[in-house]
Amino acid sequence: MFSNYKPTWMVEAIYQITPEQLKKKGIKAVLTDLDNTLIAWNNPDGTEELLNWILEMKNAGIPVVVVSNNKSSRVERAIERFELDYVARALKPFARGIKAAQKKLNLSNEEIVMVGDQIMTDIRGANSAGVRSILVRPIVDTDGWNTRINRFFERKIMRVLLKKHPEMKWRGEIQ
Ligand SMILES: [Mg+2]
Repeated sequence: MFSNYKPTWMVEAIYQITPEQLKKKGIKAVLTDLDNTLIAWNNPDGTEELLNWILEMKNAGIPVVVVSNNKSSRVERAIERFELDYVARALKPFARGIKAAQKKLNLSNEEIVMVGDQIMTDIRGANSAGVRSILVRPIVDTDGWNTRINRFFERKIMRVLLKKHPEMKWRGEIQ
């Protein structure tokens, strides 16, 4: 039950994912959710950590593509200073946005990973698209009202998954 919501890995924060860890898994590009994964939903400026992480990926030749359910104008405004490619209105948990990003990159399912803070959208979307995924903790605990409703169900689903899969643990890296 709920295997559609099971992430491949669980890492505390996106900044802990390094090019070395990705290369070991054969991953050549990162797709990432925007709100509460890359930036706080109520603080779109981003942080020093984020800028350093993006630079680290750039230097390693690993493209980072934002895949967000938000509208184009919002995503564009949020990430223009980071010079990242993006897919807006991604319709996660459906595969469409993830597949659109994959097409831009021209990489196989095994060569990309989807990072996000929500199992009902990001992780389920990754599983629909047949790609591996990394669940991260949301950057801030408070959410918009629609996300708060999802969080309620997510907590219940996570409880079932963690019980069924004892190997699922929050870690400081993918392994
Ligand atoms: Mg999010």
